[in-house]
Amino acid sequence: VVRIRGLHKSFGPTEVLRGVDFQVRRGEVVCVVGPSGSGKSTLLRCANLLETPSAGRVVVRGVDITDPEADIDRVRRGIGMVFQQFNLFPHLNVLENLTIAQRRVLRRSSGEAAAVARENLAKVGLSGKEDSYPAQLSGGQQQRVAIARALSMGPGLMLFDEPTSALDPELVGDVLTVMRTLADEGMTMMVVTHEMAFAREVADRVVFLDEGRILEQGRPEHVLAEPVHPRTRAFLSRII
Ligand code: ATP
Ligand code: MG
Repeated sequence: VVRIRGLHKSFGPTEVLRGVDFQVRRGEVVCVVGPSGSGKSTLLRCANLLETPSAGRVVVRGVDITDPEADIDRVRRGIGMVFQQFNLFPHLNVLENLTIAQRRVLRRSSGEAAAVARENLAKVGLSGKEDSYPAQLSGGQQQRVAIARALSMGPGLMLFDEPTSALDPELVGDVLTVMRTLADEGMTMMVVTHEMAFAREVADRVVFLDEGRILEQGRPEHVLAEPVHPRTRAFLSRII
């Protein structure tokens, strides 16, 4: 679903990604871990072309999105993105947050969009919250609305960038449960996270990124339990 080859990304003189080869296969859950500033968010944003790579190829769902001819908007429509900050529209209620892009971008009727929205609200455990405004919800509920909104667009790939990092500890579990359910249903997912228990239990593969390079990747039981690289070991001993 995602194939990245020789990806470099610089911001001015700073080289943030220094030759990354990376892929996510259909139905696979890949967790990206690594120290702050190692380039995790930049890698995720390159997969969505929110950042333009300095060099390398990014192929998403069969389309080389670094090709200037590619229909980027069409590819992006098939990718759901969930950020640390929930980015809901504060002046719209939950139902409106879930239907606006369906109607404007996918040209669904209000009835159809609302039906899809309700289905996804049920999936994240928030049936009945249609009329609430974001400010009336807890952070965990807001993040689950953000996930339901992304799902309502029918994505073939979901990208998560530290979706639980802004949450109070007692609200993290509900969001991770929703993500786990999605993974069990076969959703293709790329997840930047510091939740090692989640990575251990849900990821098919864990990728350790350090200073813009992938130092190590593999099954979670290998990378997280028996890391080969000293820098992976140092990182994990700090975080667990
Ligand atoms: P964290 O765990 O703190 O979220 P990260 O691994 O996600 O870190 P990135 O956000 O990808 O790291 O950032 C990697 C480096 O790139 C950092 O040094 C950051 O300052 C720099 N960087 C990221 N975005 C930009 C930008 N738009 N302009 C300039 N520098 C940037
Ligand atoms: Mg980040």
